[in-house]
Amino acid sequence: MTSEVKTDPAQGPVSVQSCEEGYRNPTEVKMSQIVLPCHANHRGELSVGQLLKWMDSTACLSAERHAGCSCITASVDDIHFEHTIGVGKVVNIIAKVNRAFTSSMEVQLKQVIPHTQTEQMEYSLAAERRRMRLIHAEIITDLLSSSTAQLGECQEYQDAVPAERTRVESVELVLPPHANHQVSTFGGQIMAWMENVATIAASRLCNAHSTLRSIDMFHFRGPSHIGDRLVLKAIVNNAFKHSMEVGVCAEAYQGGEPTRHINSAFMTFEVLDSDRKPRTLPRIRPEPVDGKRRYQEAIARKKIRLDRKYIISCKQTEVPLSVPWDISNQMYLSYNNVSALKLMDARSNWVLASEKHKVRLYTLEENHMLCFKVEMNVSIPAEQTFHLLSDLRRRKEWDLHYDECEVIIEADDEDTLYRVATPCIRKGDKGKDFILLASRRKPCDARDPYLIALRSVTLPTHPPTEDYTRGEVLCAGFTILEESSCVSKITYYNQATPGVLPYISTDIAGLSSGFSSSFSACSDFLEANKDSESALPLQSL
Ligand code: ADP
Repeated sequence: MTSEVKTDPAQGPVSVQSCEEGYRNPTEVKMSQIVLPCHANHRGELSVGQLLKWMDSTACLSAERHAGCSCITASVDDIHFEHTIGVGKVVNIIAKVNRAFTSSMEVQLKQVIPHTQTEQMEYSLAAERRRMRLIHAEIITDLLSSSTAQLGECQEYQDAVPAERTRVESVELVLPPHANHQVSTFGGQIMAWMENVATIAASRLCNAHSTLRSIDMFHFRGPSHIGDRLVLKAIVNNAFKHSMEVGVCAEAYQGGEPTRHINSAFMTFEVLDSDRKPRTLPRIRPEPVDGKRRYQEAIARKKIRLDRKYIISCKQTEVPLSVPWDISNQMYLSYNNVSALKLMDARSNWVLASEKHKVRLYTLEENHMLCFKVEMNVSIPAEQTFHLLSDLRRRKEWDLHYDECEVIIEADDEDTLYRVATPCIRKGDKGKDFILLASRRKPCDARDPYLIALRSVTLPTHPPTEDYTRGEVLCAGFTILEESSCVSKITYYNQATPGVLPYISTDIAGLSSGFSSSFSACSDFLEANKDSESALPLQSL
């Protein structure tokens, strides 16, 4: 589920743009609310808890349209709060179902069929976000076990505030207005209560009003119902220079039954001064054992948050070229890698530049950016094509631009780092080399293509050398779509950078057709290795 929140500058007619070519997603639900004093905090700003409740109920209504029965929130992705919203403003909330995963919902759901290009992309990205959710806990464990030194030991600061001073515990009784007609407590209501205790804990660090900046993605571990007593506990886990992390945990009990863990969340707060600039915060002195562990974990989460913010939320054109790769930001770089290729794949304004021997070259020019794609059909099953193209070391068998290719790191089953060297194209020039992250993904269903996404990264172990000019790939790769059981459509994409342009510009200008010979050679290579044993996952090579 994706919830999008927009605000109007003032009260008045609400205009919401959501249609693409007159089409409206049948699961789309819109809610518009005027921010009244009863929705605001003492500063006249919409309380985040109220906003979370609205977002949650809109998302649930959208999920319900799809599932045909009432739904409750299972998990929420990261939420960032950019602006505060004043009393009198109108808030427009739009929710629609991007993708249904059978295992994450309690009913067997029919599949969502994406209709527009944008929907197709959101649909595919939902799978990537899900991967990230599932792997989040693993990244924290890795970071903590591999780099305690890097994260820094708890230091003793003289003027540190004892964490204990920020501890808050509060109880709420779940009444009918807090639950849906099937007596399940609204997730948004629980989030609102959690936000409330977290805000109190945050304000105790330096006795000042705190502003919520972000909530890490979290999931509900179990349901809660009318009659539950919800115990909400919060404490400041760590304070950084300008922000602090508050952890909140929600537990439920009824009568003498054992306590159930409902949810835990981590929220980042700032304290703003009169110019609305973040104030420098005092340090925190964690409590022994659990407090110290949470203090360290908060540092790991901060690193992940920064990586995510830097890598994911950047618009594609703003992503710096080579980003440093390391195991802790691997997930986000792969997400960025895959989503960039999917974005290119979803574009509809490609222009056919040239066609030769059934190999087509298309270009797309936009905002000072030139992309090209080469497309052809081959009579090889999609899976075999995918396996053969996934191993970049074999590309030199058909691509003249690949001189050498070695595996540097196999990060996991689906992500590999390579060093690729290409020959010099002009006499006297040096050859180029690239450090590439290759992310390969199998399709989730028949509408999804196989995908091999490539982008440059930097690695401290592989700095540029004297012998080569270091080249950079912004976004490139293959999609392979199964046309029939033995025919697949291969599309190769590349977002041209100055380093890549000389290889392709004469083709685009129609002066040569190197693309056609390369891709005919690719087709021959695939044909020759149609039944090859080595078309197996990299690990088994
Ligand atoms: P963890 O202890 O592994 O962080 P929990 O789910 O137990 O995970 O708790 C989540 C967060 O809730 C903690 O990081 C902490 O900030 C807060 N919290 C947990 N228990 C308490 C408590 N007894 N008092 C105050 N805050 C708590």
